[in-house]
Amino acid sequence: MKIGFIGLGNMGAPMARNLAAAGHEVTGFDTASVTAEGVALAASAQDAARHADVVITMLPNGAILRAVAEDVLPAMQTGALFIDCSTVDVESARAVAEDANSKGMGWIDAPVSGGIGGASAGTLTFMAGGAEDDFNKAAELFDIMGQKAVHCGDAGAGQAAKICNNMILGATMIVTCEAFALADKLGLARDKMFDVVSTSSGYSWSMNAYCPAPGIGPQSPADNDYQPGFAAALMVKDLGLAQDASASVSATTPLGAHALELYKEMVADGDGDKDFSYMLPRLSA
Ligand code: NAD
Repeated sequence: MKIGFIGLGNMGAPMARNLAAAGHEVTGFDTASVTAEGVALAASAQDAARHADVVITMLPNGAILRAVAEDVLPAMQTGALFIDCSTVDVESARAVAEDANSKGMGWIDAPVSGGIGGASAGTLTFMAGGAEDDFNKAAELFDIMGQKAVHCGDAGAGQAAKICNNMILGATMIVTCEAFALADKLGLARDKMFDVVSTSSGYSWSMNAYCPAPGIGPQSPADNDYQPGFAAALMVKDLGLAQDASASVSATTPLGAHALELYKEMVADGDGDKDFSYMLPRLSA
């Protein structure tokens, strides 16, 4: 396939590289002078999109996605597919989907989990929203860039799944850190608490796979001085999107709201570039 790839940052560059390595003809564009192995660089986003069967975007936020889409949709071939892999607000995803569909283009919102490591290894998970036909067309590319793709529903459903997942993640990590901090004060050894909780009803991904306590459980950012991993600043972004979405539909998400406040404090204290599990040293200080 001819693929236009717009946004060759930490995530986009390795994803574009993997598509090129699998034999696709990838033309990339990024406003910063960055490159990706095997990817031909275009002079503009429109040039990257013009002859593409599929345009993929991996951009910082919804406002930039809307601007890029407004620019490239008129240049795209009718019948081409627009796949946005960025994490953006549900509203922007739905607005751009409508615009794409009205101009005769397919649309899939497909935010990812798996981080930079997953992007590089081609093991991302895609959460996709859009028409069934469009999802089926995109599936071949998801297979190259990832290990799993779930069709979650209509346009915007991928972004909804992403923010629901990350709201659970953010809140679960905090309460896992609170439990370690409480155990410390009660004289309960951290490794004993891990032994019990990781096989009891308090288990979670945060405890079992990404334990915030150094030296306990499998290797995690806690064992590497809390280098990310998943930076607290990115958690603030995702929890903020979750709260915006929650407010827009009058949902009740008090723990998600409180998790956002605690991560905002971490960022305000200058620790936004640390892994989000750095909540543990903060709570046990
Ligand atoms: P990044 O900042 O490294 O990359 C974004 C790229 O977009 C940059 O290279 C920037 O120059 C480029 N860009 C900005 N405006 C542009 C424009 N108008 N036209 C073309 N290029 C433009 O960010 P990232 O870490 O690659 O994240 C990208 C997206 O993936 C974000 O939405 C993020 O929330 C999401 N995400 C990131 C991670 C992660 O661990 N980094 C994990 C999951 C999801």
